Amino acid sequence: MIETRSCPVCHTDSAIAKLFLEKNIDSTKLSEFSFASRKTPEFMCHRLVRCPACDLVYANQPPGENELAHAYHVAEYDSSEEANDAAMAYIRAIRPVLSKLAHRRSALEIGTGTGIFLEHLSHEGFAGVVGVEPSSAAIAAAPEHRRTWIREGMFEESCFAPSSFDLICCFMTMEHVRDPNVIAQAALRLLRPGGAFVTVTHDYRGLINRMLGKLSPIIDIEHLQLFSERSLRHLFESVGYADIMISPFVNTYSLQYWTRLSPLPAGIKKPLAGLMAKTGLNNVKLGVNVGNLITAGFKNA
Ligand SMILES: [Zn+2]
Repeated sequence: MIETRSCPVCHTDSAIAKLFLEKNIDSTKLSEFSFASRKTPEFMCHRLVRCPACDLVYANQPPGENELAHAYHVAEYDSSEEANDAAMAYIRAIRPVLSKLAHRRSALEIGTGTGIFLEHLSHEGFAGVVGVEPSSAAIAAAPEHRRTWIREGMFEESCFAPSSFDLICCFMTMEHVRDPNVIAQAALRLLRPGGAFVTVTHDYRGLINRMLGKLSPIIDIEHLQLFSERSLRHLFESVGYADIMISPFVNTYSLQYWTRLSPLPAGIKKPLAGLMAKTGLNNVKLGVNVGNLITAGFKNA
């Protein structure tokens, strides 16, 4: 039986939501890389609809919780350089939030991968850092000292004490979870007064994403919802966050990676990648606003 859900942000019935994209899944193309971070885009997706009330785009018939847990647990990991570049961009973007925090005692990252961002937070003065990550392969790729920071599995609020973190981060993960409200509400309870919950998400209304349409890398089988500024504000406000900040986010990656993400046909991508490798261009880092948003909300002191 296929289970249909209402909007996972505002709970408006999906019967009145407009079709955003038809389902496009070729099961013969699915691989262990389909649920890995920063893979080559496959442009497959669940049936996506857009909520008329809060502007969220979401899969109204998503896979079940157990199916997702399994897919991420066995997902391959193949993105250490890009993960490092992303972590650098996150730490730059989060500085205005860090400057507003009263304390840097402890931080939690939901969807931590190899824990590279925890490393940055530790350098920023956080005494205790902890991450949650479902992919065994990602954790196996983490250096020894970081593995002690990482808890393997899906995020569960009950694993942590209420009011015990000054900062909770969830980067490029809110699209992947079954219920973004559950994460945002749990984060609010786990934060100390004055603490902040920070997300980085795609913006389906971002210029590049609108231009690329079905060929945007955000069209992905892993994405169970896609946010815009309006839907993020709705989520953070309805959960009860204060001083909400939403701003565009610049990602800096190597040219090689941007080429891989691009919608160019494989017949062009391959020779281009070869040419860039020969000339050394592939290692040039380039910062681009590809239509991502960083959002922060604070727990009232
Ligand atoms: Zn909605």
